[in-house]
Amino acid sequence: MMENQTSARRDFIKLSALGLGGVITAPALAATKELISTNAESYNTDKKLTIVCVGAHPGDPEFGCGGTMARYSDAGHAVTFLYLTRGEAYTSAQTYAESAAIRTKEAEAACKILNAKPVFAGQVDGNTELNKTRSEEMTKLILAENPDIVFTQWPVDAHPDHQVTGLLALTAWVKSGQQFHLYFYEVNTGTETMAFTPTDYVDITAVREKKLAAMFAHKSQDPNGTYNGFFKPLEDFRGLQAGVKAAEGFIHFKAKKEQAVILGL
Ligand SMILES: [Zn+2]
Repeated sequence: MMENQTSARRDFIKLSALGLGGVITAPALAATKELISTNAESYNTDKKLTIVCVGAHPGDPEFGCGGTMARYSDAGHAVTFLYLTRGEAYTSAQTYAESAAIRTKEAEAACKILNAKPVFAGQVDGNTELNKTRSEEMTKLILAENPDIVFTQWPVDAHPDHQVTGLLALTAWVKSGQQFHLYFYEVNTGTETMAFTPTDYVDITAVREKKLAAMFAHKSQDPNGTYNGFFKPLEDFRGLQAGVKAAEGFIHFKAKKEQAVILGL
């Protein structure tokens, strides 16, 4: 059991930082000799990866990392969007059930565009909980997918549901013995996500249109305003930082054995 886990992990690290060719990583943060290579080709892999992207509300995974998820699914990897809630509280004009129905449909449409599987965790928008039961529930849901990589919201965020989402996934990672790679993503930076300094960037230039279609599937969420007010400038800015036209930035939360290593030492 131990042996298998160890070798599986070694295989994974050898493959990539993210399992995507063209991913830009910060070499100084590379954890092992295998990871130090800056040649994007060396990150390519035939191994089919399982990715779980956790978000508080329908739209969070799509806006925060829809480009990266499009690249994973285009490359043949399995992508699941795990939504903590169904966006029940987005408007007082409808009941929770009505809102949830509208936003579930939008999430399903977005997932179809990105070739992702939607899963709903059953918490309630605006009233999400972080406690032992909820942690166990989320850990079970995440591990049921047997993920290689989990993406979740950065918990330093003005929205309490985003805080809960980030911490539930972090807890699943800790409880599972750091069994999968963990990355944090950002949404509405400056207004919601705070203090976010990416460690890794993904070039989303080639899938920008696909991401746009997934974001705009969330018709009830003023996608035009959200995209032009937050995500277009953010994709441009992260692109500038990464030296490409458009990028998404992530914080790679490193496992214990990856932490205290720097190039050449
Ligand atoms: Zn949200």
